[in-house]
Amino acid sequence: MTNLIKEAIKQRVARVRQETIDAILPTLVCKKVDTDMYSFMMPSDNTVGYYNDYFKKICIRKDLIGASLVDTLYHEDRHHQQYIKDSHCFDDYIKEEDDRLGYMLQHVEKDARRYAFIKTIKSLKAKGGLRRMLAAMVITFIHHPFKGRLSTNKYKY
Ligand SMILES: [Zn+2]
Repeated sequence: MTNLIKEAIKQRVARVRQETIDAILPTLVCKKVDTDMYSFMMPSDNTVGYYNDYFKKICIRKDLIGASLVDTLYHEDRHHQQYIKDSHCFDDYIKEEDDRLGYMLQHVEKDARRYAFIKTIKSLKAKGGLRRMLAAMVITFIHHPFKGRLSTNKYKY
């Protein structure tokens, strides 16, 4: 692939990504989104996003697109809502690197996954039906081969 084509794809991906963020943002409770979390801090290599309650902001990876992007925004937004409801709900938080199963099964993560799944499906359906949703999943998969949350559960939220 020539550099020109690569650059055109990069720009197109960036544009679609921004459009997605702009469309989702009004539906989030948390209005602060840092779309380049590496500019802020880097928790670990396989983290796609996290919510920082000190700054009251959602931080997501710069290269996140498609269904993963939408899902991560809603997932982290749910953590924001959880903090509002009970500021101590993360007191006994289990980190994935400490206990993978404990991390997956704790209430705040189960609740955020469920919430994000439903909101993501609804938002993608509203945007253009099932076909668009499936296309977004395919793009996500191509963009993050073998790393997307649909293929593995490697990513933390
Ligand atoms: Zn989470």
